Amino acid sequence: MNREALDELKHQIPLMGYLQANDWQPARPLSRGRWMGLCPLHEDHQPSFLVDPNKDLFYCYGCGRGGDVIRFAELYHQVRFPQALAMLCQWRGVAPLLQETARFYGIQLHRHSEAVAYLHQRGIRSPELIEHMRIGYAPGGCLRGWLMQLGYTLPALCQAGLVTAVGYDSYSHRIVFPLEGNLYGRSISLSAPPHRFLPGSKGGLYGWEQARLCPEVILVEGLFDYAVLWQAGFRNITCSLGTRLNARQLRQLCEGTRTVYLAFDADFNSSGQQAAQCLSQSLRERGIPARLVSLPDGHDPSSFFVGGGNAHEFHRLLEEASL
Ligand SMILES: [Zn+2]
Repeated sequence: MNREALDELKHQIPLMGYLQANDWQPARPLSRGRWMGLCPLHEDHQPSFLVDPNKDLFYCYGCGRGGDVIRFAELYHQVRFPQALAMLCQWRGVAPLLQETARFYGIQLHRHSEAVAYLHQRGIRSPELIEHMRIGYAPGGCLRGWLMQLGYTLPALCQAGLVTAVGYDSYSHRIVFPLEGNLYGRSISLSAPPHRFLPGSKGGLYGWEQARLCPEVILVEGLFDYAVLWQAGFRNITCSLGTRLNARQLRQLCEGTRTVYLAFDADFNSSGQQAAQCLSQSLRERGIPARLVSLPDGHDPSSFFVGGGNAHEFHRLLEEASL
């Protein structure tokens, strides 16, 4: 990438917007439109991170690091310069495209009875929940045409991962959940791999904006777990999309003081429980009280509710959760 292209990229991704999309919050204003806030690059307790939106530069008085949006992406995601560039390019191009895709798939859901039937089978019925999670359906074979008609080019769709190299829709016969900067697709047929994401990061914790305000948070590993809990009236829930948290998700969970209830799968090979054990230990090392919710053998929160469990019973599991 030459000098001009770099300047163009930086111009298109204002530092402040990128920081805020990554959960950074300005704490207090300074002169000339600059802001101070907690440093997202080191464990900061007093705002020492200065941002100048006019110059698109940052500097931290705590860890002494500073630079532009590319430098920030390098440090924040712990990647080298070329990878940081690739991440930023992807971020720049993909956001509006994903919005459009989510909207399209949302419309498809109610046009395909097999998708609605699958949701029912997974215990999902509430229209409010479908709207809250923006659940959609990818029938396959129609997204590409729709997006190209809107002016998106085939290479852009391929680069985002929405269309395969040979030109087919990547998501086919899948229930889809829009994530921040990604799209999760759960296959409704047994012949395809169950889970699919777009290339790139799965993003931060799902539903964190709402959950972060709660003194007690329930962490689940799958979006269907999140869905049934939300439908049962729980609002202090968040989802890590797998048992392995990325650095950003761990950071989110550890900012502030809260108790974390880990409600991972009680699968027969106990991998979910092992992951929960490890995570609870690393949370405690960071001063976050963590509790392990023990579901009946072979269950995850989703199957617990589908199998007839209710909010009252789940509350009891939370009360009984061990340290
Ligand atoms: Zn710092």
